[in-house]
Amino acid sequence: MKSIGILGGTFNPIHYGHLRMAQELADDLNFDEVRFIPAASPPHKDTPTICAEHRAAMVRLAIADNPAFTIDERELNRAGASYTIDTLLSLREELGTQRSMTLFMGSDAFTKFNTWHRWEEIIHHCHITLVQRPQTEANELPKILETFLHSHYTENGNDLHDTPAGFVTMRQITALDISSTAIRDTLQQGFSARYLMPDQVIEYIQARQLYLK
Ligand code: ATP
Ligand code: MG
Repeated sequence: MKSIGILGGTFNPIHYGHLRMAQELADDLNFDEVRFIPAASPPHKDTPTICAEHRAAMVRLAIADNPAFTIDERELNRAGASYTIDTLLSLREELGTQRSMTLFMGSDAFTKFNTWHRWEEIIHHCHITLVQRPQTEANELPKILETFLHSHYTENGNDLHDTPAGFVTMRQITALDISSTAIRDTLQQGFSARYLMPDQVIEYIQARQLYLK
């Protein structure tokens, strides 16, 4: 049974930071599939100015030429906040309890992981692979998450394939200091976002005049 990687996010919009992380982790950890799961309404953010349909469409365009990347729109079809625990439980119903699933997460997201809805249950349903994101300090981690990290930590990538859930690992990836926030600012100022994200996504944004305010 093939292990799958999962990258959740607002993708407002998707950029090379997301895509490169997914590629490098899939290569490094030997995953054949990475599922991009756009959040309809992210619990920790204001409602995104760009609707979920546009954000999902941009993800679709960005991953279209990569057979290993797929989009999973289940959060878009669900009412209310997009909680990761609900998504994992729904994936488990579909994939069964034995399939290995690994959540990919940047360090900025992990520093707030203990505030996620039913966060302590999440590790029972998936593994977590952390990557360092530029501009976030490792020493910002709350004590409770340090303890969590130590009790689930493994260096061994095989652990992620041999068991369905329960391990946390960390991987080095090419540091790309790209964020959707900075891209939105760039576009709002009327500057180009070329070379930060796929051209197809830029064309989609331009054709619909998104992010102009
Ligand atoms: P925003 O600025 O709107 O928060 P973002 O660029 O942080 O957008 P998200 O959709 O919030 O993108 O991120 C989804 C996931 O991808 C998170 O786990 C985040 O840490 C990770 N991620 C985003 N950008 C990068 C990057 N440049 N390098 C590594 N991980 C990243
Ligand atoms: Mg973010």
